Amino acid sequence: MTLEFECINCGADFELEFTDLLDKPEKLKCPNCDIRADVHAVEDMMGALDDVCANVKHIRRKFRIAFTLESDDLPPPYGPADEHDADNWANEKIEEETEEEDE
Ligand SMILES: [Zn+2]
Repeated sequence: MTLEFECINCGADFELEFTDLLDKPEKLKCPNCDIRADVHAVEDMMGALDDVCANVKHIRRKFRIAFTLESDDLPPPYGPADEHDADNWANEKIEEETEEEDE
């Protein structure tokens, strides 16, 4: 499974293998401008994707599943609901996220 990335900083496109990134979250850096993502955030994301895979494994006995996950097209409340908001969303300053989710 390959994850595709586009660097917001320089526009470079690159790909990383799911298992590589799961084992080494520090690998998420732009090959062109060397900008990096927060390693803990990548770790959390990959852990969550790993959980998705584990769950799909159960469901695939009954159904084949395919879905696309794009950071610019996340369902509410994570992303803009329509195209118009997408630009503003991308320009928003990235703020430190606080843990607010109820377990
Ligand atoms: Zn870059």
